[in-house]
Formats: sequence, C-alpha cells, structure tokens
Amino acid sequence: MEKKEMIYEGKAKKVFRTDDPALLIVDYKDDATAFNGQKRGTIGGKGIINNKMSNYLMAILEKEGVPTHLVQELSERETLVKCVKIVPLEVIIRNIAAGSFSARYGVEEGTPLKISTIEFSYKNDDLGDPLINDYHALALGLATEKEIETIKKYAFKVNDVLRALWAKRGVTLVDFKLEFGRLADGTIVLADEISPDTCRFWDAETGKKLDKDRFRRDLGNVEDAYTEIIGRLVDGE
Ligand code: UDP
Repeated sequence: MEKKEMIYEGKAKKVFRTDDPALLIVDYKDDATAFNGQKRGTIGGKGIINNKMSNYLMAILEKEGVPTHLVQELSERETLVKCVKIVPLEVIIRNIAAGSFSARYGVEEGTPLKISTIEFSYKNDDLGDPLINDYHALALGLATEKEIETIKKYAFKVNDVLRALWAKRGVTLVDFKLEFGRLADGTIVLADEISPDTCRFWDAETGKKLDKDRFRRDLGNVEDAYTEIIGRLVDGE
C-alpha cells in the first residue's frame, strides 16, 4: 500500500492518502496538547504506544460486534484505516467522576457514578468543543436520529467490553472519548483512537493515574505511565 500525500495533520496524528480512495494511513506522533492547544509538549514514544493500544483494542471491539475503521497495522506508528467522514461529535462515556464532569457538577473526582453516562461535545476547536445534547446535535444537523442511536449503542458496548478487559489487568476505566465516522455507504464505524490520550486509566489498587492527566496536570513520569499501561494491556493476555 503506497503512502501518498498528507491530507491532514492534527495534534497527535498525520493522515495520508493511499492508492485506494477508500483507505488512509494514520501516522501517530509524540506531540501532545491539552486545554484546546494551550499546553504543548512531547511524550517520548507516545505515538508507538497509542498506535499499538488503539489497534489492539479496536481488534477486540470488532470481534465483539462494534465495527471500526481498523484495517491493518503497518508499522510501529502507522496503521491502514478505512476512510470515513468524521461525525463532528466527541462522545464521552464516564464511569467515575473526573475532569470536566467533576468541575461542572461539583462532584469530587473519584466519585463512582450511579450509572455510566454518555455526553456529546460538538467537535469544533474554535468554540472549544461545547457540551451539547441530542437535540442540539439534530438541530445543528451533525447526525441523524438513527446515527445517534447507533453511536450510543456502540459507545456503551465499548464501555462494557473495555471496562471488563481493563479490570482483569488491575486498571479502572474512569472515562473515555470516542469518535465515530461514516463510510461511503453511510455505515457508522468507530474511528480515531482509543489510547491513554483519550481515556482515563487509574490503577485499581493505588489510584495512580496512567494516562494523559499526568501531562495535563504536570504530575511527572508521563512516559513511564504510558509504558506501564501498554505493558499492562499486552502482558495481561
Ligand atoms: N477527552 C479527549 N479529548 C478531549 C476531551 C476529553 O480525549 O478533547 C477524554 C479525556 O481524556 C477523558 C474523557 O475524554 O478520558 C473526559 O474528559 P473531560 O470531559 O473530563 O475533559 P478534561 O478534563 O480532559 O478537559
């Protein structure tokens, strides 16, 4: 598969065209940003870890009935994926209060939620990804009612599968963000990435943070945390 011109460069990934218009190559970088790009840095080896984790988890989710964009890992940092049009929603599932949920609703970080929740943000950097509800998404034409139903069903399925998988590895899945895309025929598939950049992972025993919060909050040992969490995943087989 030939890597052709770069069509997009984001905060953490570059995306390239291929010979096949239905397929793209994603190339994971070590660059990290937080707070809508206000904080910048690099996390050595992050791209390799995120590529590996995202592919590992998406392969499992695919088997569990959640369609994904994953086609094939090509190298340490590169993966062949299906070309999708991203639905401009950040889909966040939460099991335990943390981050913006704790701040917005005045709930102490670490408080277990009575039920797992879902929320949508409108993916728009200029607006700072504002929180929206289903009606807003429909009113803005971001997705159809059927697509929103499908996205919710898949997002909770991802939570069920991943929560159990991480629990076996001594890790609490606190919350995470998903993005979905549409294939040419309109099929909704899980896209983007599932990684320590997009999930909160806490050690089940000690509560130690093993994710991007170490970078966001200047907690130190960022690279070590990424190395530890990918090790827990692959060694926990
Ligand atoms: N998240 C993400 N990208 C974003 C915002 C959030 O991947 O632009 C993830 C984040 O890593 C966490 C979950 O979504 O696992 C919930 O994040 P929250 O809304 O608490 O935002 P934050 O506190 O990171 O601003």
